[in-house]
Amino acid sequence: MSSTINGAEPLLRAVGLSKHFPLESSLLATLRGAEAQTVKAVEAVSLDVTAGQTLAIVGESGSGKSTLGRLLLRLMQPTTGQVLYQGNNIFRMNRRELSAFRRQAQIILQDPYASLNPRMRVGRIIREPLDIYREGTVAERNKRVDALLERVGLNSAHARAYPSELSGGQRQRVGIAAALALSPEIIIADEPTSSLDVSVQAQTLNLLAELQRDFNLTYVFITHDLGVVQHFSDRVAVMYLGKIVEEAPTETLFAAPQHPYTQVLFSAIPLPDPSRRVNWDLPKGEPPSPLDPPPGCHFHPRCPKVMSNCSTIAPRLEATAPGQRVACLLYADGAN
Ligand code: SF4
Repeated sequence: MSSTINGAEPLLRAVGLSKHFPLESSLLATLRGAEAQTVKAVEAVSLDVTAGQTLAIVGESGSGKSTLGRLLLRLMQPTTGQVLYQGNNIFRMNRRELSAFRRQAQIILQDPYASLNPRMRVGRIIREPLDIYREGTVAERNKRVDALLERVGLNSAHARAYPSELSGGQRQRVGIAAALALSPEIIIADEPTSSLDVSVQAQTLNLLAELQRDFNLTYVFITHDLGVVQHFSDRVAVMYLGKIVEEAPTETLFAAPQHPYTQVLFSAIPLPDPSRRVNWDLPKGEPPSPLDPPPGCHFHPRCPKVMSNCSTIAPRLEATAPGQRVACLLYADGAN
């Protein structure tokens, strides 16, 4: 289990969370005379999300970070493991508990155009969660929609527009307003700015930061943009092929990354301009297929510090400093 940060009970906690996607039926596999193939998208992830803070989950495409985000919201069932929200396992919640959880935990998606119903006017999109939960009268809901539009930098005239009539940045603001409608405690933001122009990205990030301060929101920020991570998050979890390989306070991770994968990635951050992207191809070679990950440490074929035992021993995520955990044999007890 992950360590509790600063002694505070986490708002959300993942414990041994795994998600495997079967690629074929077990019947087909039996006919082939082999085990069914699976993609281990998320593997034995344990982490804590502290109330009022931002945890960034970073990783290359295919690292499992979006799958992890969906598991944290119970948008899919895990293969094994638990997610505890205020101590309650969200996968064991009854209907009433789950309904209460869904109010408190919302998602903002990467592509605001794809995530907004093109046939619904903006006002209706933002009002929908209020309608589902029967919050107040219709007039009160409409008033709340206007207030939300204003809070995200739009106005009541936008309520009558269709998503296609708005810019990308405006659409993302609508997505944010809809996520805020039920006054959630936690928002999982999956690459919320990566489809936006650079200048709009900064405005959207500023808005999210303001909202966090105003409403004491907790964020889980899924991103591949380390510039965003540095300026926005309190803690960072780095994923590689479904596993967390390093987790630490943001400042610590940028000042002294310990895992060789993190070191290579973070050494190339194009500072001080956060709008520039990191080249995620920096570690030598392509990431291996999640269908057939390398044995031992999954990173060993690309690792600049690889040792003879790295291809046979899978390192565990272990504390190396206060608040910092690393999965690398360089830091394991008895390592040379
Ligand atoms: Fe590199 Fe070995 Fe550490 Fe993996 S365990 S990151 S291969 S040194």
